[in-house]
Amino acid sequence: MLKYIDVLKFVNHGNPVARQRVVKTPEEWRAVLSPEVYEVTRLKGTERAYSAAMCSSFEPGLYACACCGTLLFDGREKFDSGTGWPSFTQPIEPGAIAYENDRSYGMRRIEALCSTCDAHLGHVFPDGPPPSGLRYCMNALSLNKIETPFEKAVLGGGCFWCTEAIFKELKGVETVESGFSGGAIANPTYREVCSGRTGHAEVVQVTFNPAEITYEDLLRIHLSTHNPTTPNQQGADVGTQYRSIILVSNNDQRRSAEKVLAEMQAIFDRPIVTEIKQLEAFYLAESEHQDFYLKHPEEGYCQAVIDPKLAKFRMLFATSRK
Ligand SMILES: [Zn+2]
Repeated sequence: MLKYIDVLKFVNHGNPVARQRVVKTPEEWRAVLSPEVYEVTRLKGTERAYSAAMCSSFEPGLYACACCGTLLFDGREKFDSGTGWPSFTQPIEPGAIAYENDRSYGMRRIEALCSTCDAHLGHVFPDGPPPSGLRYCMNALSLNKIETPFEKAVLGGGCFWCTEAIFKELKGVETVESGFSGGAIANPTYREVCSGRTGHAEVVQVTFNPAEITYEDLLRIHLSTHNPTTPNQQGADVGTQYRSIILVSNNDQRRSAEKVLAEMQAIFDRPIVTEIKQLEAFYLAESEHQDFYLKHPEEGYCQAVIDPKLAKFRMLFATSRK
């Protein structure tokens, strides 16, 4: 989870890396945006307070950049700030938003921009509700609300090259991303996590359609395809970053995790040590760690460790595969 100190760090020492960039000329933006959206997003305008129905809507859903469509906020982080602008306590992921000092109008504020296309969104202030204490004060014109059938699961079971390769093969799974979660520092690098000092685990973020595969089935497959009884270890990989962990984003997920762990204990001789932890943030790993198995099937680690795991998974869960 980002806090104000992290935002200050981004402003002063550089923003998190965007997954992708969208760059257009002013003329190109003008051609695809309404004049109102262009004024706010490309010319740093501000809409009138209470001008948008989005302020008082708290239905579930995701919010995307009005210019480039990148997902920026989850409706679960939206709160009623009473300001007349839609307000959120946290971006959908740490790299979604970029931050700049804004000294216009004789004020000192921190501007929030879309990391992908530099659209002006609004400002971020340190007077939001706990636990983040942040208030992303947004222009409704900068955002489009999207209804989505997808949910996310964040799971760790040792090296993420392995877990990613397994979950990618499942029906109902839309995307699998490798990253870090469960530790203390914002935006860690692979090298920092490997030191074992950040407290993060190597995890995958699985975006899935619950109409096709349930969260509980994902957990059952997770617990069947790594060893959840070895503390801080998977085979030859030893360290807290390799611990077995389920990061839950709400109480429903927590109840499901507790239920599946209790149920799966019956098939293990030794106690399951899988940690259930509240998800605070998922940090995407560097691009060279995404799709590692697909890109490097000939690597020694892939052949010695991932191939046998995948073979076991394919046998056990043949009917669940794409
Ligand atoms: Zn954008």
